[in-house]
Amino acid sequence: MAYVIKDSCIACGACAAECPVSCISDGDIYSIDASACIDCGSCAGVCPVDAPQPE
Ligand code: SF4
Ligand code: SF4
Repeated sequence: MAYVIKDSCIACGACAAECPVSCISDGDIYSIDASACIDCGSCAGVCPVDAPQPE
């Protein structure tokens, strides 16, 4: 299982800075490399719009 970033992402970058395995990439909407995500939830904890959700 992994987290996925929903369309509500405003590309603030907070999640990428918190990810312990650096598996979040920037873009118009940030994205998570599901093969590297360890499902820790840190990204969801810092996101202002609750865009990262468990898959
Ligand atoms: S759940 Fe954890 S490991 Fe997965 S993308 Fe979010 S911060 Fe990174
Ligand atoms: S913290 Fe939330 S809004 Fe900011 S880049 Fe990550 S997913 Fe997008």
